[in-house]
Amino acid sequence: MGPSLSRGAGEGLNRAESIILPIEPDTRPDDLVQPFQIDPFALRGRLVRLGPTVDRILSQHDYPEPVAAILGEAITLAVVLAGALKYDGIFTLQTKSDGPVRLIVADVSTEGAVRGYAQYDRERLDQVPAHGSGLSPSVPDLIGKGYIAFTVDQGEHTERYQGIVELIGANLAECAQHYFRQSEQIQAGIKLSAARSGAGGAWRAGGLMLQRVPPEGGYTVIADDVEDGWRRAMVLMSSATPGELVDPQLSPHRLLFRLFHDEGVRVYPTHPIEARCRCSKERIGRILRSFPADDIEDMRKDEVITVTCEFCNTRYDFAGEDFAPLASA
Ligand SMILES: [Zn+2]
Repeated sequence: MGPSLSRGAGEGLNRAESIILPIEPDTRPDDLVQPFQIDPFALRGRLVRLGPTVDRILSQHDYPEPVAAILGEAITLAVVLAGALKYDGIFTLQTKSDGPVRLIVADVSTEGAVRGYAQYDRERLDQVPAHGSGLSPSVPDLIGKGYIAFTVDQGEHTERYQGIVELIGANLAECAQHYFRQSEQIQAGIKLSAARSGAGGAWRAGGLMLQRVPPEGGYTVIADDVEDGWRRAMVLMSSATPGELVDPQLSPHRLLFRLFHDEGVRVYPTHPIEARCRCSKERIGRILRSFPADDIEDMRKDEVITVTCEFCNTRYDFAGEDFAPLASA
């Protein structure tokens, strides 16, 4: 069986390495995944905090604000979900839809390298009503009808995991929750936020996920207090405001302690996240050389073929003679 979003949520967590909050200060307040556990019901969760990482990805393009905001949430969601997986490769989140933002792609490597981009129609975007500040960008207004897909690619000769579901929900967090109910039959609570912050207006993003993993052998009897514990944790989690999720003054430990201190919250070692694209001139050249010669001719302008990476906006120029052997073949 390939990896699944509902499995592996507790794997790789060594209780001996965990600490019970509160403890101060956090050594690394940004660009990380902070796994945690709520005692005594062993509910697993992850807090994601993105600072320079999300600002760099969003600033590489001149996105209109609503596009940057929803892409920021999508990137955060990808990091939150990838943190639930044990995989060796690339986790990709993709939306494809009929709204003004027709495509969003965000991917996360096992090492924590993240990238993402969005395709949108500026004219249609201008007709979208402004949403209230502090609210997550609207999926029906911006993305419209379509689907969201999650893929784990672990390279050649391995099974590819893909989950795909219709976009149903007011925002991306709700769409992801719908996905879990529909495709994985597990209960999950997700909160996302992306906003500009501080004097420089740099982008920041935060995400929180709580997940209820069925016990080995499935549910037989669910004790009332376990059910109550789950509901209480969900209520506490939903009390996190969008502002708190991105607040640079509120460290991950303090935020988790503020939310869950009544229950007892335990944190595990963090995983670093950074903005890094996997493109290179060699890689793009290899793709170009696989194109038919006529297509290459069509791309040629003044003897130069220019390719821009959609993810990081880096421009690669190829001289015409790079393709001469193919063009005459
Ligand atoms: Zn790139």
